[in-house]
Amino acid sequence: MLDRVTLVRCLKRLPRLIGRLMLFVLFLGTLGLVVGVALVDQIRPAILFRPYILSPIIAALIALSAYITLKGKAKKTKSDWLSRWSKKRKRIAIVIIAVLLVGLPLATTGTRYLSDERLLEQASTQFQVEASSLASQGQIENTLIELERQLTKLRSSYVDEPPDYIIVVRMFTDVSELQGGASTPDWADASVQITPGQSPLIYIPVEPENQRFGRTAPTQRPAHEMTHVVTYEALNCQSMTLIPRFFHEALAQYESLKGMPNLVSRLCIRVSLLSLEPSLVLRDEPPELYVEMTQEDVDVFYALSYEFGRYLAHEYGEGRLWTIVQLVGDGMEFHDAFASVTGRQYLDAYKEFSQDWLYAPVIVKYHQWQEQR
Ligand SMILES: [Zn+2]
Repeated sequence: MLDRVTLVRCLKRLPRLIGRLMLFVLFLGTLGLVVGVALVDQIRPAILFRPYILSPIIAALIALSAYITLKGKAKKTKSDWLSRWSKKRKRIAIVIIAVLLVGLPLATTGTRYLSDERLLEQASTQFQVEASSLASQGQIENTLIELERQLTKLRSSYVDEPPDYIIVVRMFTDVSELQGGASTPDWADASVQITPGQSPLIYIPVEPENQRFGRTAPTQRPAHEMTHVVTYEALNCQSMTLIPRFFHEALAQYESLKGMPNLVSRLCIRVSLLSLEPSLVLRDEPPELYVEMTQEDVDVFYALSYEFGRYLAHEYGEGRLWTIVQLVGDGMEFHDAFASVTGRQYLDAYKEFSQDWLYAPVIVKYHQWQEQR
């Protein structure tokens, strides 16, 4: 029999035990999440934070810890070291933390706002907008900013002499408007119409608008469609059919899913591949895209093209993907251009990709493992 005193003592300890247990679970959970995300998406600090955001944080943390270590002759007991601090030192520590918490987001928001304004101004000379009457000014502006951002970024790296055409952008708020207005398949939610030698025509749903702050995290669409436009320019405005559709989409998916805002989209794509039948994913040849395709096939196509773009960029360098396009633009045949840049035949590179254990998603590996048993 448990006597009363022991029972009371045990009960008194219970909250602290539960607290510790919760802390432990929280710690394990966070660790699991970080490891999981890193495994699926291969996160590195350079992807998570731009260096100019990361460096002040690291510098401030180093300064803070140096300050604490050098000045505080604190004992290692938990409750002691804080109470030994002088008021002045506590105040300085609070100020440093407050500056970090408030200053950094403010500074990033400020720079972001300024660059958005600049992009919007440039966009007004670059695009001709035909928007649905339901689209708000904020939605139209957000869409233009994202289109211009990708256009400027890619042109500056991969197009020597950009054509001086005006790009027509048809913006809509409902997908049915796209399907009624343009000859696009049912599964498409945005598209670019390209006629060799002419200026491109973009059909795209408007970006969301946050009523309070105006800005929202961009979707992947504007950057994706704009990558097709810049590919066309890198091809010297020749026919897009000079390059396989799958390679076009690999490039557009890769270029539009880079960076922090797209972390979740990247994860979703990788996870979506995990749930598929391995026979859909593991093929010897790149899948094709048809007008009459099931939604699942379309999803596989785009997810795989993203993975392939990512694989090529990691294996051969992302600039090389564009070198292939430029060589084709200069008159070389696509397969020759691919082989001369990568040292591999296009189909061999795809085969290697689909068997690559680093890039094939985890569940595919799991299926492979099950089949082998
Ligand atoms: Zn596309």
